[in-house]
Amino acid sequence: MTPKKQRGQLIVLSGPSGVGKSTVIAELLSDRPDIFFSVSFTTRQPRVGEADGVNYRFVSKDIFQDMIARDEFLEYACYVDNFYGTSLKVIEEQLDAGIDVLLEIDVQGAAKVREKCPDALLIFISPPSFEELSRRLRGRHTDDETVIKERLQQALEECRQIPKYDFLVVNDKVSHAVEEILAILTAESCRTKYRMNVMEGV
Ligand code: 5GP
Repeated sequence: MTPKKQRGQLIVLSGPSGVGKSTVIAELLSDRPDIFFSVSFTTRQPRVGEADGVNYRFVSKDIFQDMIARDEFLEYACYVDNFYGTSLKVIEEQLDAGIDVLLEIDVQGAAKVREKCPDALLIFISPPSFEELSRRLRGRHTDDETVIKERLQQALEECRQIPKYDFLVVNDKVSHAVEEILAILTAESCRTKYRMNVMEGV
């Protein structure tokens, strides 16, 4: 029998806009429905097909500022003129219940999580190449050219933070990227520090 960890694992997934994080996460969660996906708060406008409470909790800048003032975020960041943040209360409840929590956040947020939760597992998803990222961003037809340029510039800066992550997964093919993440999660759960209760019976 696999021994149960006491507290859930905090998993952080970052990667440039357009790298395919949402697709990878959807497939990952269908394989691992036991993982809780943290729905972030954002001040950005919903894109076509996005729903409040599913992709994000869409809020105004005023509400977001109030939440900052009340210290309600584990972390938050400003990304291309919009705020994004992770609710502290929601994820604490899950982790305390022994449930693994997945955050899809940018590199600034990941750095803050690393500071506050040193045991968090940080995974970076990169595109196979910068040209491919540029092609994918233009292909989804959700942002205008100025925003795309900003996002590409941001992507270059984000990729410089890769050495701060525990693992790097290249999203050349979604099924392959998901396979690698599943392998990372399995290896992580086998760490001795999470399995000390096995020794109790020895
Ligand atoms: P998008 O607007 O493309 O959905 O997201 C833009 C960036 O914000 C992505 O890099 C995404 O990972 C990041 N992001 C989404 N939610 C959060 C969050 O709660 N905190 C932080 N720091 N970044 C987030």
